[in-house]
Amino acid sequence: MTCKPSTAILLAAGKGTRMGSGVRKQYMMLCGQPLLAYSLRTLTESPLIQDIVMVIPDGEEAYIRQNITALVPGAEQKIRAYVPGGSERYASVYHGIEAITWPCGYVYIHDGARPFIDEEMLQRLFAAVSQEGTAVAGMPSKDTVKLTDDTAHVTDTPDRRRVWLVQTPQTFEYALIKTAYEKLFSHIDDLKSQEISITDDAMVVEQMLHRRVRLVEASYRNIKVTTPEDLLIAEAFIRNRG
Ligand code: C5P
Repeated sequence: MTCKPSTAILLAAGKGTRMGSGVRKQYMMLCGQPLLAYSLRTLTESPLIQDIVMVIPDGEEAYIRQNITALVPGAEQKIRAYVPGGSERYASVYHGIEAITWPCGYVYIHDGARPFIDEEMLQRLFAAVSQEGTAVAGMPSKDTVKLTDDTAHVTDTPDRRRVWLVQTPQTFEYALIKTAYEKLFSHIDDLKSQEISITDDAMVVEQMLHRRVRLVEASYRNIKVTTPEDLLIAEAFIRNRG
């Protein structure tokens, strides 16, 4: 058990346009349950997580309470706030951080589109974040990764032994991630004018605080359900675990 309380920020305010379905991706049914209910269940059941902030599309709190929260025993008690997301993932995360008004030692930022987190993964992240202040889920890349220019010509091939694909949860000391995001938003107009895209939380810590970020092996199953073929893979994983 943890002595410092942890809050999970569960991100579910994306549009999910790459799925190409009429329904928001986080509400799509996966083997009889909405996608978002899977990670909400794991976070709710975890003794490591005391509080949850749900970051959701503006105006959809009633829908989520009725169709997702109500399916997960104990979730209603752990969810301390429903906050509307922003236009980009990083803005949604910032809204989530700003909503934390209760004692918080660590923050677990998680994409609601990743249903396959488990308690062991959360424990590994906790062990690392409590030692180092940062712990980001990921896995070593199985494929060779190429960097390219704007015309799809290769500019570099990083050594595959040093390439990881990063996932969520991304876990940080609360004060550290709050400071990093506040700094990000104080520079946001510069970053927008330079067209820098901010796609994960570790990047905010690296660039705003120049701090080393610790990666922790999560699982190759911890996929982000993004495109229709991911749904097939996700259903196979669920059937396989029974
Ligand atoms: O767009 P991306 O695949 O990076 O989204 C990852 C997660 O962040 C998803 O769970 C999505 O719902 C969430 N998100 C959000 N607000 C946005 C964009 C994405 O909460 N503006």
